[in-house]
Parts: sequence; C-alpha cells; structure tokens
Amino acid sequence: MILVAKIEDVRDARLLEPTDAVVRVTRACICGSDLWPYATLEPSETGRRMGHEAIGVVEAVGADVRTVKNGDVVVMPFAFSDGSCVFCHEGLHTSCIHGGFFGTSDIDAAQAEALRVPQADGTLFVLPVGEDDALMPSLLTLSDVMGTGHHAAVAARVGPGQTTAVVGDGAVGLCGVIAARRLGAEQVIILGRHADRIALAREFGATDVVSERGDEAVERVRELTGGFGVHSVLECVGLEQSMLTAIGIARPGGAVGRVGVPQNETMPASQPAFYDNITVSGGPAPVRAYIEELLPDVLEGRIRPGRVFDRVVGLDAVPNGYRAMNDREAIKVMVKP
Ligand SMILES: [Zn+2]
Repeated sequence: MILVAKIEDVRDARLLEPTDAVVRVTRACICGSDLWPYATLEPSETGRRMGHEAIGVVEAVGADVRTVKNGDVVVMPFAFSDGSCVFCHEGLHTSCIHGGFFGTSDIDAAQAEALRVPQADGTLFVLPVGEDDALMPSLLTLSDVMGTGHHAAVAARVGPGQTTAVVGDGAVGLCGVIAARRLGAEQVIILGRHADRIALAREFGATDVVSERGDEAVERVRELTGGFGVHSVLECVGLEQSMLTAIGIARPGGAVGRVGVPQNETMPASQPAFYDNITVSGGPAPVRAYIEELLPDVLEGRIRPGRVFDRVVGLDAVPNGYRAMNDREAIKVMVKP
C-alpha cells in the first residue's frame, strides 16, 4: 500500500468570530498521532486538514480579543479553550465547554501558512521571544509533546525517588523521560527498540533500556525493579500490546498514565489491573495548563525537549515528512513554512 499526504490550496485563514485570531505559522510539526489517519483514512472529496501543533505570529484579532495582539509570537496548544469555564479553571482545558481540537471538521489545522484560532484569549500563550529565537524547537514542544509527556508523568503519579517506566520511544515517550526526571523519578526505564531514540532517551535521563517485547519485556522490567515492577508507567503508544505491557510492569498499587490515543474500544488487562489495585489514568493532555509551569525550564535551558526534532521540512515537503516518520527514519519532523 502506498500512503500519501498532499498539499492543497485552501481559502485564506480569516476571522469568523469576534473571539478569533489569525496566526501566521512560523513553525509547525508532524505528530505521531497524525500517522494514524495517514495510515487508515479513506480518500475523500474534501480531504482532511492536518496539524495541531504550532508557533506563529498573530496577524489579526477579533473585536473581543483582549490578551493577544498583532505581532505577538504565540504558541498554540493542540486544543483550543476559552480559559474561563469550570473545566479550564480546574486545569482541564481539553474538556473546555467552548473548546475543541485543531484539525477537526470545520476547525483549521496547523500544517499550513496560517490558521484561524478560536477562543484566542484562552488558547494562545504569548512567548517572550522573537519569531526566530534559538529555543524555537523546544518552545514548539509546549504545543503538544512536552506537555503530553508531562501529563503522562502526572497521571502516572511520578514522584521523587520513585521508579518509572516509559512505554514507547516516540517524541512523547522521550519527553516523558524528561518529565519523569523533572518530577524526581530516580529510576527511569525506557521501553523501545530504535537505537537513535534510545540514545536520546539516555541523554534525557533514562537509566535503563528494555528492548524486549511482550512477556519478555515485563520480565526484564521486573528484574530491574527487585521483582515488583515500577511505581509509575507512562503509556505513550496507544496499542493493545503497549497497554498490556504497561499494566504488566506496574507494581501493585502503582499507576499507569496513558497518553497514547487508544486504538481499541476496550482496555486490556482489566483483571490484573483490578487485582493489583493499579490506577489507570490519563487522556488528552491539557497542555495549555502546563505551559506556565514548563516554560521557565525551557527558557533557562534546564530541559531541551526540542532535541526530538531531527528533520526540518518546508510546506512542500510535508508529504516526505509523513513518510519519514511513518518509516521511523525521523523521530519528529518540524515544518517551517
Ligand atoms: Zn473552558
């Protein structure tokens, strides 16, 4: 089967609501979750716009927009949110009652020259840097992968001195390693099999690597943890097998934080999870809630999640970027329109 992504001309981005902004995209990227529709979406007349991670410059704002203005350099979380409803106040911006996700039905997407951003005040975060700042790759990860890795670690209840395992060596898993170390985990085991990704995981602070799969992987993690498994598991894949492994390596009373988009209706290993009192938590990361917490570490160089980008393409070459990520030639592709 030949998989293709295509570049198409669409109508210029414009303001539709008084709470909108139009953002000229200066950096975007291809997400591991973009590879699911890449592999499975049926061809259609209208196609589907893709991309939900970006940094850009505000070019126009609606009449009701108060906190962002033309010329601001902004990072865009993958979900838009009003910043004022009950769920936004609870830090769960992905459940905003006026929110939604970029790149879905009538909402613009980010692998583009520009896009309309709904709920601009609640959604966009103004960055204190110029549009070509050297920190751009790491700042761009605040749009999704670094916030998502952090969410997995929070959901898995990572804490000081504890043992953690990360299932998946994609960009989110690698950011999960950073997040786990940042929250104080002493032992961080990465489960992955790609040499380049494992090397980066070690640089990010992983202490052990498990490249076996299935029951053998579970066995190896138990050996590395005195026979019991880890306190916290970050599940960063979303497949049945990865969830089975995640629950298999959690110690009794431990927690699994899942951020890989589940590709199955039902959750596997329900009975072992029950008998070992394992908490399974997680979901789409409210990355808007985490930007304030993570930004100082990026600006001051304490974390460098932008190292997950190992290829840069222009808009014309976005289809090559999809192919490279799908073939595991690239960890994560940055798009520079
Ligand atoms: Zn809200």
